[in-house]
Amino acid sequence: MNQERRFLRPRRQLVEQLRKKGIEDERVLQAIGKIPRHKLIDTALHSKAYDDTALPIGMGQTISQPFTVAAQTELLNIEKGEKVLEIGTGSGYQCMVLCELGAEVYSVERHKELYFKAKEALREFGYKAMLKSGDGTLGWSAYAPYDGIVVTAGAPVVPDDLVQQLSIGGRLVIPVGNDESQMMLRIRRTAENEYEREEFSNFKFVPLIGEKGWGEG
Ligand code: SAM
Repeated sequence: MNQERRFLRPRRQLVEQLRKKGIEDERVLQAIGKIPRHKLIDTALHSKAYDDTALPIGMGQTISQPFTVAAQTELLNIEKGEKVLEIGTGSGYQCMVLCELGAEVYSVERHKELYFKAKEALREFGYKAMLKSGDGTLGWSAYAPYDGIVVTAGAPVVPDDLVQQLSIGGRLVIPVGNDESQMMLRIRRTAENEYEREEFSNFKFVPLIGEKGWGEG
């Protein structure tokens, strides 16, 4: 069977699985159904590419579980043309989902090796996003404010720089907790100095390491 065709069915099954698990936004499901996740991981892991699990991508990091990517994207509630900052580019998967939704995407990755790899993958698949290598706990002030900010690593607290880089009406989706589990929070900036905070379910992420995150140790 053609190499690419053999992934079509598992990818469709993944979409159905996410729908059953509660993902309702058809745009998000469509994006997941389109992105070649297998091309973002090592060929040795190809048989697991469309399992709903996180998988290793090197540097001790992971490509997020598809359900987590879909849930965070749904919580962001992005409209076409909105400006979104992602913290933790990793493989570029979440970044591609945001591009599929028509967002103007900015993404920061702490590991240079992953930044270069994701940049190349995005270019290869024809996605346009602005990427940089650095400490995302400080946000990316040059392009602020953002309509959405999504953090794809677990933080000990909500970094104040991220909150300050939200537009009025902007949403920050961030997992916050200890190293065992994190609560998914959505913080909406409702006015210059006013924020609404909502809590969703628990997740397990790799740590957000940086000046306003966990220490290197
Ligand atoms: N969004 C990624 C994807 O779709 O593959 C998920 C990657 S992984 C779960 C989280 C990423 O956050 C890792 O690549 C890690 O290196 C990165 N990270 C951790 N702390 C960071 C920081 N302070 N700034 C930027 N990236 C960070």
